[in-house]
Amino acid sequence: MINISCDVLVIGAGIVGISSAYYIKKLNPANNVILVDSGEPMAFTSAQSGENYRNWWPHPVMTAFTDRSIDLMEEIAIETDNLINLNRRGYVLATRSDDIDSLLDELAAGYAESPVSEIRLHESLSSNSYQSPLSGDWEAAPSGVDVLRNPKLIRSIFPNYDKDIRSIVHIRRAGSLSGQQLGQHMLTKFNAAGGKQLKGNVASIEQDDGFRVYLGGYDRVIQAESIVNAAGPFINKIANMLSKELPIKNTLQQKIAFEDSNAMIPRNMPFSIDLDEQFIDWTEEEKALLNEDQDLVWLTQQMSGAIHCRPDGGDNGSWVKLGWAFNETSVKPEMQPALTDTYPEIVLRGAARLNPGLKTYYGRLPRNMHHYGGYYTLTEENWPLIGEMEVSGAYVVGAMSGFGSMAACAGGELCARWVIGLEKPEYAPALSPERHKDSRLMDQLKTLSSRGIL
Ligand SMILES: Cc1cc2nc3c(=O)[nH]c(=O)nc-3n(C[C@H](O)[C@H](O)[C@H](O)COP(=O)(O)OP(=O)(O)OC[C@H]3O[C@@H](n4cnc5c(N)ncnc54)[C@H](O)[C@@H]3O)c2cc1C
Repeated sequence: MINISCDVLVIGAGIVGISSAYYIKKLNPANNVILVDSGEPMAFTSAQSGENYRNWWPHPVMTAFTDRSIDLMEEIAIETDNLINLNRRGYVLATRSDDIDSLLDELAAGYAESPVSEIRLHESLSSNSYQSPLSGDWEAAPSGVDVLRNPKLIRSIFPNYDKDIRSIVHIRRAGSLSGQQLGQHMLTKFNAAGGKQLKGNVASIEQDDGFRVYLGGYDRVIQAESIVNAAGPFINKIANMLSKELPIKNTLQQKIAFEDSNAMIPRNMPFSIDLDEQFIDWTEEEKALLNEDQDLVWLTQQMSGAIHCRPDGGDNGSWVKLGWAFNETSVKPEMQPALTDTYPEIVLRGAARLNPGLKTYYGRLPRNMHHYGGYYTLTEENWPLIGEMEVSGAYVVGAMSGFGSMAACAGGELCARWVIGLEKPEYAPALSPERHKDSRLMDQLKTLSSRGIL
């Protein structure tokens, strides 16, 4: 049995664990930190991310948290000459309704404490104050939010959208990034600062003057003063080793990416979300077949909104990405999640409602289409868990749902502050497992009209 010791052991080298290890080393270089993973870094959920980011949330706590993360990503973009491909074309929320008062109330509430909270209304046909998302350069793009309420103005700016769209909310501090490059960058910096990486599957943990962490199959035990549970969908497996249970579930979510060889999606289109519920565009014949199948009949019923589409691969690329996180079924996570064969056609038809040009691909998605997926690990309220796990010296940083790439920097930094014992931002208690004891906050979260799941 080989014994190794360290001050902090971070379990899980996805983007969240890497970021935590990076910030622990950055904020206290003297800390001896080991990052352990059973597989390759950034190879599990973090390899499946759609790599989008936004500071739009229905509650100021999540807005402040992601704003902080975007600040940190922008710092890294400047430091690395934008190695992480940070782009800021924004998120467009599109609806066929004129009545968007509740959405506007939600926006105002979410941005109530944000320094970049300006909400600009555009109601006339020509709006000189609206800056089109022509350039993706994050440094040149505006912040705040643009609300477009004139259908003709909308059609002049977004001619590819469904002609029935009547209102658009354009979140400007939003866009895409390369999560893989971000993870690699932080890993390189972590290693250069003296951090160590180990390969091994954490099989059991004993509490004994710190923690004795046993790696299965590698005949190794690591003695650590503190441990950080950043095991992604498996955070409960690690918590259970300490006789704790975290209030999370895992749902399988999928995406597709394919070459838009007919150039149906403009390369400067923002990440575009169709907010409206819909019935998928099947032919009568297809509907009849689906209706005959008990397992597929749900596909003929009303589906939730929030299907999304964006160009992928930069201005000169030709790929597009589509996603629809409608699955709410809780499952036991597996290392090889089984994807659904029908998903590509489902998401394509759903996305074609906002972008009718995509209909050209019905029934003939290119063979080199990439269909991928992984787990959203999430709490009921869709807020992360970052803080102590009710065991002194054991921390969790996880439940990052569909926002782990964008929130990894602030999540890692916050985790580092808990581990080292540094002053923490105002949002820290609300994001820690302790919040579940705060019945006022939990009751307030139950009243929100949306949980920000995309
Ligand atoms: C389809 C999809 C689309 C998404 N799109 C976006 C997006 O557009 N924007 C965004 O911000 N986020 C997005 N996300 C969310 C984001 O990808 C995740 O929140 C994030 O990757 C989670 O990172 P993680 O480090 O917590 O988990 P993971 O990447 O899963 O890392 C956990 C690591 O822990 C290791 N591990 C687990 N158990 C053990 C053990 N016992 N011993 C050793 N190692 C262990 C695993 O091998 C793994 O490498 C998306 C997610 C999915 C599934």
